[in-house]
Amino acid sequence: MKTIDDFYFKDKKVLIRVDFNVPLENGKVIDSTRIRSAVPTILKILQDGGACILMSHLGRPNGFEKRLSLIQIKSVLDNILAIKSKFCEDCIGKIAKEASDKLSMGEVLILENLRFYNEETKGDELFSKKLSELADCYINDAFGTAHRSHASTTVVAKYFEKKFFGKLLEKEVLAIKRVISNGKRPILAILGGSKISSKIPIIENIIDKVDDIIIGGGMAFTFIKALGGKIGESIHEDSMIKKSLSILKSAKEKNTKIHLPVDVVCAKEFKEGADSKVFSINSIPDEYEGLDSGPKSLEKFKQIILSSSTILWNGPVGVFELNSFSKGTKEIGKAIAESTKKGAFSLVGGGDSVSAVKKFKLEKDVSYVSTGGGAMLESLEGKILPGISALAK
Ligand code: AMP
Repeated sequence: MKTIDDFYFKDKKVLIRVDFNVPLENGKVIDSTRIRSAVPTILKILQDGGACILMSHLGRPNGFEKRLSLIQIKSVLDNILAIKSKFCEDCIGKIAKEASDKLSMGEVLILENLRFYNEETKGDELFSKKLSELADCYINDAFGTAHRSHASTTVVAKYFEKKFFGKLLEKEVLAIKRVISNGKRPILAILGGSKISSKIPIIENIIDKVDDIIIGGGMAFTFIKALGGKIGESIHEDSMIKKSLSILKSAKEKNTKIHLPVDVVCAKEFKEGADSKVFSINSIPDEYEGLDSGPKSLEKFKQIILSSSTILWNGPVGVFELNSFSKGTKEIGKAIAESTKKGAFSLVGGGDSVSAVKKFKLEKDVSYVSTGGGAMLESLEGKILPGISALAK
């Protein structure tokens, strides 16, 4: 892995693919986490005496759309870095080239939204080449899009001799390695969420790499039904019944323990404030559906979490968006925080568990919170991300 610490960027113009795809409300950035995550890489270049040309996508525009202009990010970045960056209204072509030529060392230039050109997502060669003509070196620091073979994330890399992992990309890759390749044992994966089908490739990839797997949330019910339990109206996927039995069999053969819930908080209606009752996981009455982990399950899961040295968490163990059914997910998050305090390494990654950790304000109490949803999931599935392999070529 060629990281930016291996190079001195003095007098170099550096094209950096960042992930500034941040949520906006009325033109205001409402969560600047992704912008802050790019700062260590930007600072390294500036401190070395180089110049940064930042490129990113924002949303899914259809051609030019003012509401998705990256100009909206400029003041936030300027405040964080305490600088006055420059902005170019295009990302390629004459004005982008002129803006790059005029850029002095120590300065930062933000290019306009890459996805105003559909060549970006198509991975167009000519578009990639034009981007590459703006700088001397290339850094990819956008983990959130590293699973895409887009122009700025993958194709552009081949036009550079000097190309590097940014600090964020490096951190993300090392965090995944620290769980899957060289994690301290016992290693635990906690998987939840609603759709078992989307998590099967992850289970299959990690089953012989971890010691324990907790399966919670909606996806547990397919396993329970497969084992002959009565799950009432709970969410499940009949097409995955066979698969879940084969996973249980394979886990046994590989000496990996799979832990399923033993009880569950159920309601007749999927809504905030609905009357709830706890049932044993195997005997949910017909008119009820399981919406959160029950107290006995939580106790069992907590013991496992507290005795693990490495923990991966992907997916909530209940409908955490509704306060009435958020207790289980919150308790799991708190137990992971406690285990981390005792010395465990914990990685929270992939969409909803990240939202849950933020909702319960536990971000600082776990070892690492991934910034990339899809990219994290594909990494956990064992895929080599195109944005990462492009840097190695
Ligand atoms: P996924 O996208 O598959 O990771 O699923 C995340 C979603 O799973 C969240 O929106 C949760 O509300 C939902 N979820 C978790 N547990 C359950 C459950 N028992 N029943 C229905 N949905 C659930």
